[in-house]
Amino acid sequence: LDDRDGVIWLNGKLVPWRDAKLHVLSHSLHYGNAVFEGARIYGGKVFKLTEHTERLHTSGRLLNMEIPYSVAVLEEATKAVVAGNDLTDGYVRPIAWRGAEVLGVSAAGTKVQVAIAVWPWPAYYADKAIKLKTSRWKRPSPESAPTASKCAGLYVLCTLARDEAIAAGYQDAFMLDYRGQVAEATGANLFFVMDGELHTPTADCFLNGLTRQTVIGLAKARGLKVIERAIWPNELPKAQEVFITGTAVEVTAVSAIDDHAYEVGPITKSLQAEYAKLVRA
Ligand code: PMP
Repeated sequence: LDDRDGVIWLNGKLVPWRDAKLHVLSHSLHYGNAVFEGARIYGGKVFKLTEHTERLHTSGRLLNMEIPYSVAVLEEATKAVVAGNDLTDGYVRPIAWRGAEVLGVSAAGTKVQVAIAVWPWPAYYADKAIKLKTSRWKRPSPESAPTASKCAGLYVLCTLARDEAIAAGYQDAFMLDYRGQVAEATGANLFFVMDGELHTPTADCFLNGLTRQTVIGLAKARGLKVIERAIWPNELPKAQEVFITGTAVEVTAVSAIDDHAYEVGPITKSLQAEYAKLVRA
């Protein structure tokens, strides 16, 4: 991904793609305290650009990292980098990290840097349903990690979980939390259709995804009852449909969790269609 034409926004300027580099002694490379975002571009427009940019600021604040560019400046920067790469559909990756000024564990004295890159990234799973494998890695308690932050360090768990699932022939991991409750996939939130109602775990130790919130809104608007609650893995056989939501995966049906199969049912299909329509509206 580092060797291509195009431009990346780096600390206030559009620079050639290959020149968007950082120093090996950057604090965040050593201690995992970068924060990032993922948004999608549909028809030349970034879906929920303000919400994503505000979340980047919130993620930083949760790590006591003040991002030195306002939400308004970062939104303009995002539009400039989309235009500068001539992209109408794709993915946006803003990231903020601490520089190489000092390298103790304390971050005091580091300078925060920001980059925004965009690239084409077609539908993750197209319209295919995916299989999830229960992971041995558990989402940590909010008392152990800044779980509401899209913090790079937290993705160590996601990468381990996901790669183990893929090695076992699945597409993604099914993650429980520190209490043993159902949490999420590795980059997407989970929903279960149970007797015509939509059930989803309370987002109290993982990201309350923007797509999750959008899909809850779509479901409620069409009269579906949405219940956010603690969900335990022994309830899973009671679900008729399962799907995941996220910026990258959009609304993707789940055809199995471990060896329990699910149908791609009517509620999943209609929310998929409504989400696809909304993002291009
Ligand atoms: N959980 C995790 C761990 C994620 O990385 C993401 C993707 N940002 C999500 C959930 C879904 O969030 P969103 O719908 O805002 O993309």
